[in-house]
Amino acid sequence: NRRIIYAKRPTGMPTVDCFQLVTVPMPQPGPGQALVRNDYLSVDPYIRMRMEEKDSYTSVMKVGETLVGRTVGQIVASQIAGFEAGDWVVGRLGWQDYSVAEAADLQKIDIDAAPATAYLGSLGSTGITAWVGLMEFGKPKPGETVLVSAASGAVGSVVGQLARQQGCRVVGIAGGPAKCAVVREEFNFDDCVDYKADTFAADLARAVPQGVDVYFDNVGGPILDAVLPLLNNFARIPLCGLVSQYNATEPYGIKNFRELFNHRVTLRGFVLSDHKDLWPLASKSLAQAYAAGQLKYRESITDGLENAPRAFIDMLHGSNVGKQLVRLRAG
Ligand code: NDP
Repeated sequence: NRRIIYAKRPTGMPTVDCFQLVTVPMPQPGPGQALVRNDYLSVDPYIRMRMEEKDSYTSVMKVGETLVGRTVGQIVASQIAGFEAGDWVVGRLGWQDYSVAEAADLQKIDIDAAPATAYLGSLGSTGITAWVGLMEFGKPKPGETVLVSAASGAVGSVVGQLARQQGCRVVGIAGGPAKCAVVREEFNFDDCVDYKADTFAADLARAVPQGVDVYFDNVGGPILDAVLPLLNNFARIPLCGLVSQYNATEPYGIKNFRELFNHRVTLRGFVLSDHKDLWPLASKSLAQAYAAGQLKYRESITDGLENAPRAFIDMLHGSNVGKQLVRLRAG
């Protein structure tokens, strides 16, 4: 069995030597446990927060620990009542080929309803994050303008599609013209603005002629600053993440902070794990939207556990469109 352990704390953007591939004996399931073969691994921005002592809602990893991450795979052997060899499951089983898990770590999935990988993305915690942030804290109303940052990414692409279903005008922000084209054409946003263009501020203002009622923020930093003057009175900002800041060695100071006051804005940071009560409703709505063909998703897939660190770093650089996954099992 192979796993990736946390080897070194990064300064700024992580490098591959922050990770180490190790070979360990195959784990054996005991009573109340199952052995799971992990087929796909999700690599997520929050891992970066766990790599460093900073004020953060997540706990910090210790050097030598196996990297945390959600996986989808199949049970190989089980000593858990109700779980059998061959069952497909998702869980937070880490960056490794095989894991031993207990019933509480595992959730069965229906691969006839959707491909297994969808349960790491739009139909899993990614989609639920989008749903909770938008519906619970964004509270979009028909006709309002919803703006979404990291719009071509895993969470952002779901937010935009859900907001369209609510009858909103939906505008994305993404890095580069190719990503913006995907956001418009595949994810069905009304418009998308390239934040890397020199004309970003003017392009953004043009894209939201009625102002912004909901800004679903995945990135923070200078993009949040550029959005603040465009907010309407009583706008809502579900603050989902600050990916532009996770590698920052100097924190970015928001300049347009007073706009929050001027426009009586509600800014709400949220973390998915605080809202478990909403998960069943969110999962059901996402599954319905998917079944109705109203939830498109994309995956960027890297092959091989040994390449997971590179996939993670590239994702932080923005190489991914949609959900960044690592395929652990060939074929
Ligand atoms: P994505 O699939 O969106 O991938 C990350 C994207 O971030 C990249 O593709 C890149 O897109 C963008 N990005 C990277 N650096 C910058 C930058 N400096 N400025 C602007 N954009 C940047 O990841 P996820 O969908 O998994 O996560 C999106 C956000 O949601 C993250 O902040 C994450 O921490 C957060 N999150 C929060 C949860 C919660 O419970 N609150 C749960 C899950 C995720 P581009 O090329 O456009 O720059």
